Amino acid sequence: MNSSNPRALPAVEKVLKALGEQPVPRPLVTNLVREAIQAKREAKEGAADFEVFVREVQLEIDHLNRARIQAVINGTGVLIHTNLGRSPIQEAAAQRMHDIAVNYNNLEIDLDSGARGKRGRYFEQLLAQLVDAEAATVVNNCASALILILRLFTANTGKKEVLISRGELVEIGGGFRVPEIMEASGATLREVGATNKTSLNDYARAIGPETAMLLKVHRSNFWMEGFVDSPTTEEMAALAHEHGLAMVEDLGSGAMVDTGQLAPIEHEPLANEILKRGVDLVCFSGDKIFGGPQAGMIAGKAELIAGLKKEPFFRALRCDKLILTLLECTAQAYLDARATSSIPSLPLLDMLQLTVDSLRERGEAMGKELAGLPVDWSLGESTAQVGGGTMPKSAIPSVTLDLKAHGLKAPVLAKRLRRQALPLMGYIAEDLFRLDLRTVFPRQDAQVVNAITLALS
Ligand SMILES: *Cc1c(COP(=O)(O)O)cnc(C)c1O
Repeated sequence: MNSSNPRALPAVEKVLKALGEQPVPRPLVTNLVREAIQAKREAKEGAADFEVFVREVQLEIDHLNRARIQAVINGTGVLIHTNLGRSPIQEAAAQRMHDIAVNYNNLEIDLDSGARGKRGRYFEQLLAQLVDAEAATVVNNCASALILILRLFTANTGKKEVLISRGELVEIGGGFRVPEIMEASGATLREVGATNKTSLNDYARAIGPETAMLLKVHRSNFWMEGFVDSPTTEEMAALAHEHGLAMVEDLGSGAMVDTGQLAPIEHEPLANEILKRGVDLVCFSGDKIFGGPQAGMIAGKAELIAGLKKEPFFRALRCDKLILTLLECTAQAYLDARATSSIPSLPLLDMLQLTVDSLRERGEAMGKELAGLPVDWSLGESTAQVGGGTMPKSAIPSVTLDLKAHGLKAPVLAKRLRRQALPLMGYIAEDLFRLDLRTVFPRQDAQVVNAITLALS
């Protein structure tokens, strides 16, 4: 650029040279530089100052760099936060995944015969055992599990219609929309009853020659109270079977242990309880309260599971070796714990069981570490949530570390904390930056103090 001419645009090469080494690959940096020059050109303004221009591009690069997946500290108090990657994985499972990732493995080899083996065979048996089902399988996520199930009962059967209560369509967790899923599968949705009230008779009246199945979707991220009614799963299953139809329940979260036993929260229905009520198939997510990776578990009648695995779509939705490894480890942790009537050590379950006293103790210790920094701190009472479309009524008593930085508004502090090398996520309430300690791993306490220290200096 010619600095004597304010309208001249800088040359790409010169900007690249000024930027030097960058954390994102060179071609991406070049694109950003070109785009910035183009933007200046379109705005018909020259780069008034080369240094300023380079700094602007650097901000773009930093912004892009921060978009790469990286660890963050979750101080939001939402245990299953879809935006923060839902469930953390058990350490032992992650280590096993590492071993599988860097080596070849027996994904589809029978090591006894040397012949081709079946992918997911071990996990399928663990899962069936865990939920006390005849058989089980797994696909990419719960939404795709539902698509696969809908296809099984509606594609090539001459019956396209699926009955679902209007009350279960209102809103479901994680941007999950049942009508869209149904459309994608080719099934036709038939809404039954009213938003707040659906009777067994509503279903009975809606059954016609086109009906393939009844679907119950677990109400996940909302809770209706008052004048609310819906038939039980048992009643719906009996009705479906009377008419030779299938009964399926989408559980969403899929708890494996009695959640009421872990924290003062409601009992989330267990997959085995739902199967006992007579449903033919049940599906749930792998990365919600189950505590594993993204996956869609399906369990129920052996003949139906076999049918699902023959669907052409199954091949498109199958899980990879790393996911299967994590699922195996997580399922095995549940089964091992069950043998000793204990609760498995999984990050989410551990978090649920933390006592308020232990959180307060940690908060005190962290607060004391902040002495001398330009910030006032206090401990607050809060309620953590399971989240992820799970247990909307649950408010788990928790403790927050509340910060008020001197001369710094809460949103500014929040932004600084998000932009640390190890980003720290909290929330703002009444002009305070609040950090819910239930979702912060105790091993991260020192990192929290460090992030706050850096953000304030
Ligand atoms: C979360 C949820 C889903 C979607 O699960 P994914 O694994 O994210 O596809 C489906 N149904 C219900 C009831 C849910 O809560």
